[in-house]
Amino acid sequence: MKNQFDFDLERIIDIIKEKQFKKVGLQFPEGFKRQAFSISQKLEEATGANILISGNPCFGACDIDTTLLGKVEVMFHFGHSKMGNLENVVFIETRSNVDVLPCVKTALPLLATNRIGLITTVQHIHKLDEISNFLLENEKKGITGKGDLRVSYPGQVLGCNFTAARVDCDEYLYIGSGIFHPLGVAIATGKRVVAADAYLNQAIEVSPVKFLRKRSGYIVKSMEAKVFGIIVSSKSGQNRIGLAKKLAEIAKKHGKKAQIIMMDLVTPEQLLAFKVDAYVNTACPRITIDDSERFHVPVLTPQEFEIVLGERKWETLVMDEILEEKCKNNE
Ligand code: SF4
Repeated sequence: MKNQFDFDLERIIDIIKEKQFKKVGLQFPEGFKRQAFSISQKLEEATGANILISGNPCFGACDIDTTLLGKVEVMFHFGHSKMGNLENVVFIETRSNVDVLPCVKTALPLLATNRIGLITTVQHIHKLDEISNFLLENEKKGITGKGDLRVSYPGQVLGCNFTAARVDCDEYLYIGSGIFHPLGVAIATGKRVVAADAYLNQAIEVSPVKFLRKRSGYIVKSMEAKVFGIIVSSKSGQNRIGLAKKLAEIAKKHGKKAQIIMMDLVTPEQLLAFKVDAYVNTACPRITIDDSERFHVPVLTPQEFEIVLGERKWETLVMDEILEEKCKNNE
């Protein structure tokens, strides 16, 4: 079966027709932008509505194009599950129909215990029951955790939130592509994580050793830094200004200069001109990790910065997460 994503067009058409919306916005993450034109055309033909597509980068449900939202009656946001309570945003989860069982079968010999925490992204969340049943047939119990309000489903993890992985299990099975999420869970929980890629039908045990060594290098490099830029995102779902202010205060207490920089899209290019020795990123935690080599100075997570300042012990280094209540309270 060809791998396809469900863009839920019938539901979208029903919503537009029922509410008689005339001005409709569409927002796609980078991976789905290729489909944007054909989807827009189909919706226009079926409903007669005027469609505007967001051209801004989009990496998560935290990243709603509020400018476009202000110009339309409804906006359909693809590829992510609901986050926050913005009116007139409809989240289209865009689930995948890929068969996950082959990769779970491939992963089975790598699972060393019988209590398996199951984690995945929203694209495969509807497959967790099927995976649990398969594990049960193989004398293993699949366990899913509820997570906080930032996630919509038990077992769902985000690049910034592993709360659904905090369950009583011996090891984890992650179903999805890439290693960021499983790596995050391995570091956040200290347990083994086997990552099964349904698209490539591959499974590997994820080791955080190399990753932590690299992060340690950035911490050591920042020990002598005197001037820090503390990055805050203006995106509502990433904004941790409260945390940034606390970090700036602690930095000053330790005789360091720290200036808060507020920005929408955080890129190495935008930060190149500032004269700082290191950055601390309170925006999307993935930026710190995924783009680390593209910045001209080290970019630290808030927890790594605490180690640099002597406020946290190395052994207690954790992954940076944005938790529901922290973001709501701007902490
Ligand atoms: S903060 Fe980053 S990881 Fe979290 S939802 Fe937004 S884009 Fe995804």
